[in-house]
Amino acid sequence: MAVSRRAVRESGVVVGERRIAWAGRGMPVLTAIGERFARERPFDGLRIAACLHVTAETAVLMGALKAGGAEIALAASNPLSTQDDVAEALQGYGIAVHARAGVDRATYYRHIHQALDLAPDIVLDDGCDLVNILHTERTDLLDGVSGGCEETTTGIIRLRQMAAEGALRFPVVAVNDTRTKRMFDNRYGTGQSTLDGIMRATNVMLAGRTVVVAGFGYCGRGVAERAKGLGARVIVTEIDPVKALDASLQGYEVRAMGAAATVGDLFVTVTGNRDVITAEHLAAMKDGAILANAGHFDIEIDVRALEGLAVALNPGVRPNTDEYVLADGRRLLLLAEGRLVNLTAAEGHPAAVMDMSFSAQALAVAWLTTERVRLAPGVYDVPEDIDVEVARLKLAAAGIEIDRLTAEQEDYLHSWRTGS
Ligand code: NAD
Ligand code: SAH
Repeated sequence: MAVSRRAVRESGVVVGERRIAWAGRGMPVLTAIGERFARERPFDGLRIAACLHVTAETAVLMGALKAGGAEIALAASNPLSTQDDVAEALQGYGIAVHARAGVDRATYYRHIHQALDLAPDIVLDDGCDLVNILHTERTDLLDGVSGGCEETTTGIIRLRQMAAEGALRFPVVAVNDTRTKRMFDNRYGTGQSTLDGIMRATNVMLAGRTVVVAGFGYCGRGVAERAKGLGARVIVTEIDPVKALDASLQGYEVRAMGAAATVGDLFVTVTGNRDVITAEHLAAMKDGAILANAGHFDIEIDVRALEGLAVALNPGVRPNTDEYVLADGRRLLLLAEGRLVNLTAAEGHPAAVMDMSFSAQALAVAWLTTERVRLAPGVYDVPEDIDVEVARLKLAAAGIEIDRLTAEQEDYLHSWRTGS
């Protein structure tokens, strides 16, 4: 035998490096962008403070920005999602990481402050926590910030509100709103990794079970599709009549949460809203019902109400699974403390998905650094050509060819003179 498998004890750094290398293999577009940055050094002298999930995929993004010359400080965008071995490996690559899995709220915010101590020129955010701190507690740094990028839906909603109130002090690029991000990350990424998290946490059989998906936006659609694919009966709850109809025409049962609460075996919230599952709903649930959130914070499921209803708590009955016992003996199982189940109980989206989101993120940073002198404070879309370029590079990496418009077709699509 030419090779042998030796059992070796490995340090966190080695495991982290290996995870980052594995993620890199699934991220050909971002890797190519990183190689270009290494040649062109567009970020020489630039300081970037990032607040993102500290995962192997984020590490590949940090590597690409660092290769372009940036000095980087990274804090986590969620108290539970940090991959500690990856954080350790990143430190070794010269990136200042302020993150650890399972920290309390105070430590989470302290880490964001520590990343901001870099006095950044550019900020990267995922959920608007860092931008919020900058505009409330670290206003002394605002003049130095020339732009930012926001990764997720809820963050963009908050930024648009800040901009509408005239509170936002620098331009921010809405990476979330690209076609590639919404379709691949929010839909396919959240669809797969949410089910992955639920299965790792509980190992339950999904076929034949009733799964209630709250919210039929990009994420909810992905979760519903994947649950259906695993053989679950899927019920969708919505507040938007058009989305509710869409879900209905796709064959899902659509109900109000009050009715769905009594029949669901598994509940997944993906709305970006608060109080989607309340005390009233919790009180009506079946024994053994499982509660998971893949939307934003731990307020989509009213965790405080669950604590109030319960007479006993059995923490850790499974990894990332806490059992709450109600007065009549029914047990409700809360996954990942009501925080993002896909990034807590699983590893977040696969590298192939983050390749697209983070390629847009990297190109948006490059765009900001060339455009920043001209951009007024506000929320900006990623330029369409960046979005299309990311999709094109992804197709090329997968060896997929598509058709191109002929000159006649191009002309036809832009003319109104030809009738039927
Ligand atoms: P979206 O706007 O496309 O969808 C949200 C949907 O929830 C909308 O259709 C809205 O009508 C519906 N909704 C709002 N309040 C509701 C309620 N009370 N009951 C039922 N439905 C309700 O947004 P999205 O892109 O799907 O993102 C949803 C959330 O997930 C956001 O908070 C976003 O930041 C987050 N997100 C998470 C991940 C992840 O990895 N877990 C990935 C991307 C986005
Ligand atoms: N900070 C908020 C927002 C989360 S939204 C919170 O934790 O509640 C989730 C975002 O995580 C998505 O927009 C997605 O792009 C990102 N994400 C998903 N998988 C990831 C991964 N493997 N690495 C880094 N970020 C990831």
